[in-house]
Amino acid sequence: MASLNEFKLTGPDWARGCEACAFGIVAAPDIVPALPMHESRAVQAHEEMILFCDCKAGFLYRQHLRKVYAKLSMEQVRTILAWVNAATVPTVHFAESEPA
Ligand SMILES: [Zn+2]
Repeated sequence: MASLNEFKLTGPDWARGCEACAFGIVAAPDIVPALPMHESRAVQAHEEMILFCDCKAGFLYRQHLRKVYAKLSMEQVRTILAWVNAATVPTVHFAESEPA
């Protein structure tokens, strides 16, 4: 689950998300503590590792991360991706796409 510290609590209420999410994220891999959070989330979003919510927070967070990703260098992307892949344990969520 997304950390409750993803946004400062001084942000607008909608940025914290709705009942179905935390800050717009329904499910996502953990953040690697050694890496910058937004850059890591940007790479995870680009790799479709994050399930965003349909609410305003989810929509705007995804847009924001696209902009962050666009500013990353190839080396930054490679470095973060290596960490993310090493740290990511597949969750039940990703195994639920097949109908029973
Ligand atoms: Zn939501």
